[in-house]
Amino acid sequence: MEGSAKTVYLETMGCQMNVLDSELVLGQLRAQGYTSTDDMTGADVVLFNTCSVRDHAEQKVLSRLGALRKPKLANSDMVIGVIGCMAERDPDGIFAKMPHVDLVCGPGELNKVPALVEEVRSGRSRAIALAQSLSRRSTPLQRALEYDSVEALDLARSPAPDQNVLQSYVRVQRGCDKFCTFCVVPFTRGAERSRPASQIVDEAKMLADRGAREITLLGQTVNSYVNQEHGRPVRFAELLERVSAVDGIDRVRFVTSYPGDFTDDILEAMRDVPEVCEYLHLPVQSGSDAVLGRMRRQYSVGQYIDLIQRARAFVPHLSVASDFIVGFCGETEAEHEASLRLIEQCGFKNIYVFKYSPRPGTVADKRAVDDVPDDVKRRRNADLLAHQERLAIAANQRLIGSTVEVLVEGYSKAALKAQEAEQTRGEEVSWRASDQLVGRTRSDQIVVFPGSPGQIGHFVTVLINAATALTLHGAVVSNAPVANASPRRFADRSLTVLDSG
Ligand code: SF4
Repeated sequence: MEGSAKTVYLETMGCQMNVLDSELVLGQLRAQGYTSTDDMTGADVVLFNTCSVRDHAEQKVLSRLGALRKPKLANSDMVIGVIGCMAERDPDGIFAKMPHVDLVCGPGELNKVPALVEEVRSGRSRAIALAQSLSRRSTPLQRALEYDSVEALDLARSPAPDQNVLQSYVRVQRGCDKFCTFCVVPFTRGAERSRPASQIVDEAKMLADRGAREITLLGQTVNSYVNQEHGRPVRFAELLERVSAVDGIDRVRFVTSYPGDFTDDILEAMRDVPEVCEYLHLPVQSGSDAVLGRMRRQYSVGQYIDLIQRARAFVPHLSVASDFIVGFCGETEAEHEASLRLIEQCGFKNIYVFKYSPRPGTVADKRAVDDVPDDVKRRRNADLLAHQERLAIAANQRLIGSTVEVLVEGYSKAALKAQEAEQTRGEEVSWRASDQLVGRTRSDQIVVFPGSPGQIGHFVTVLINAATALTLHGAVVSNAPVANASPRRFADRSLTVLDSG
């Protein structure tokens, strides 16, 4: 790097995996002397970490790239890059539609981003790194070498001293072998590969040393994690125990689970290991067996319900979030109503609903017809959300009067807005007693309450006095400094009535 420090603007779309990838890419660029900026048009390097799961997400990236045409004309040294799944899926399309893009880099090659930026900067030519490397046609030796390159990104993780690591993601697995007919992930992120358990535990230790209290283990089908160690397989239940044993880690979560692979040893770990939170993200996608079959989801609605019942028998206060796709090829009104019934039966904490959009290269795109009109998809989307909202409000209001353990994350959005306004007016940022903090329960409920800055990063006990579908409101009834708030103490549930899903 020549001259003064260069700035990088990095915008992230999509899933938690992308959030973690962005953190790691920023870390690598910081190590090269870059500082991050919120000023997209004034940055030296602009990167979009993209998602290909829905067409809408890709259109958003194209629109953001379009907004950079003029700034790039005014500053030809600006480096514009598209990284992540969309870069992997359609590099030619990106360059054709957006000729001012300088680099594309797939999700399996992100450790190369600093080198690619320098390649563009020094040669003023396009730089490309795509993971044909992750092709399922590679030889085992090639794949081993390529995996080392993928691993390099996680192994080089080094949070900045001022970075908030209180709640941190740790990748345990890359890629996916399921090939659901609607999904592009196996094509963009390659085959499923689990990281060595010892590396995952070392990363959790490093994060705990820097202040992490909660670790979320990430994988596309996280519960199917398995890695050989000294000639024997380490499976996900054991990994949960080993990460939970790291000193300083009070909570362990994991996303996303694949219902078809969920084994009872994981439920036993959730029951027996106090650090493992009572929360599951378990995407079902549809309440109709016929639709699940067309999606090639490899489980039935009955098996899904049975899994939730079994999970709640092991972990009584378990809360469950799920994902649904509405308007998948051929979805009838009766099949849609089956999804509404499933929501009723499962008592989800919350759901994420997506309108189906065909993704190029997938089986559904090649062999099925996207025949549900958009207005029907929109109506079905709204139906599912409205139904879930009614049920969640009722469930959350039953929590009024109970106490919950909250890990305090920071200021609520309203308090942050007030502070920003003070900053804009050039005033010294003040703290008002009425200002609100926000945190999460073990079961991933968001809790908002009046508090003081000293409580951020600590556990408190909050008495719930109001509730909406997505948020609990309350007042702190006791402060529990982290040093005294080991989960084993909180495992005494007589103190804490945990919210159920
Ligand atoms: S399990 Fe299915 S939906 Fe999930 S990432 Fe794999 S292919 Fe996509």
